[in-house]
Amino acid sequence: MTVQPIRLFGDPVLRTPADPVVDFDKELRTLVRDLVETMQDEGGAGLAAPQLGVGLRVFTFDVDDVVGHIVNPVLSFPDDEEQDGAEGCLSIPGIYIDTKRRQNVVAAGFNEHGDPIQIVGTGLMARCAQHETDHLDGVLFVDRLDADRRKQAMKEIRAAEWYNPDAPPVVKASPHGLFGR
Ligand SMILES: [Zn+2]
Repeated sequence: MTVQPIRLFGDPVLRTPADPVVDFDKELRTLVRDLVETMQDEGGAGLAAPQLGVGLRVFTFDVDDVVGHIVNPVLSFPDDEEQDGAEGCLSIPGIYIDTKRRQNVVAAGFNEHGDPIQIVGTGLMARCAQHETDHLDGVLFVDRLDADRRKQAMKEIRAAEWYNPDAPPVVKASPHGLFGR
């Protein structure tokens, strides 16, 4: 079983910047496989390692029937064009709020074998790359909202059946800690 539980909003691991991957080994490939299988099990467009409690800079995506991953991504923006549309997060389940993002993005990084790769994304793929890279910096999409939209998001989060401010989930030791913190 490689589908893993997803950490929910309130879990400190989601607010902790992840470390760069330095060892492109079997453990990394297991992590990528777990991310892909969990993402697909949940029907998500993307999933970042911190959402599985692993503090490493890796995310997977499943956009327009293209499934992939990127390690140590660095984003750049070829223009100033923006998009505005519904965004959600598997760590904030059931809540979708219009979020402004850049329309075009280039993500440079590595595959699980350490080969350099580049993802040129537009629209949903660009949104996904920005959302997932934010996760690696401890940033959530609600942080990207303007004041009114954030107020609405927090209202919905507090009303969500999964939200428990008095008992945030415990962060367990990562099985991938060898090349993490
Ligand atoms: Zn997310």
